Amino acid sequence: MLEVRGLSTAYQGLLAIQGVSIEVDTGEIVVVAGANGAGKSTLLKSISGMERPRSGEVVFDGARIDGLPGHAITARGIAYVPENKRLFPRLSVSDNLRLGSYLHRKEADREAPLERVFTLFPRLKERLPQRAGTLSGGEQQMLAIGRALMTRPRLLMLDEPSLGLAPLIVAEVMRTVARLRDEGVAILLVEQNARAALQIADHGYVLDGGSVVLQGDSRTLQGDARVVETYLGTL
Ligand code: ATP
Repeated sequence: MLEVRGLSTAYQGLLAIQGVSIEVDTGEIVVVAGANGAGKSTLLKSISGMERPRSGEVVFDGARIDGLPGHAITARGIAYVPENKRLFPRLSVSDNLRLGSYLHRKEADREAPLERVFTLFPRLKERLPQRAGTLSGGEQQMLAIGRALMTRPRLLMLDEPSLGLAPLIVAEVMRTVARLRDEGVAILLVEQNARAALQIADHGYVLDGGSVVLQGDSRTLQGDARVVETYLGTL
């Protein structure tokens, strides 16, 4: 479904990712792990059209999408939840969700994803008039994912969805991500602390210094002493 081939992206001449190649197939959760500054966010930004890669290719459903503007990439079926979520804090939950559906102008096209978001996150339905900025951290993450789902993506990219959340809420977010995968949305998940993510993932990559240094199926990575020591910490 998604093939990233030899992607390099630079900021002011300095390469943040260098020759990164990853793949995500339909029905998969793929995790990209790595320390602060490893280039994880840059990779997602380069796929989503927020940053323009310097070289390499991004191929989605057989067609190149690198160099396309972000809205064109969203329209092809890739949704992206950035690390800072970019919610509109003074707008209601309802308005934030409706802003996610701008690509689907017809009313009928908006209702189906909204019902799906309410099924996944009943809490959002209870809080439709509440300002997004007053939601708890976990609820804001749910809203950000919900808003991304309003575009009916086939690939959902999430940047550190567990950041700053209590362990129980992290587990809830991970369960939701697994459920989305089971419902047919492929997931590309960036996580600094890969432990929880690898538990639900099918495949994983570890970035270090802007390059892929390790990759494998998630079970192999979880059993790899180097990964556990460097990226998962001791239990
Ligand atoms: P974190 O887990 O801390 O978010 P990351 O793995 O997502 O880290 P990136 O945010 O992709 O890493 O950053 C990779 C490198 O690119 C870092 O050295 C960072 O300082 C640099 N960088 C990121 N964004 C910019 C920018 N807009 N301008 C200049 N340098 C940047």
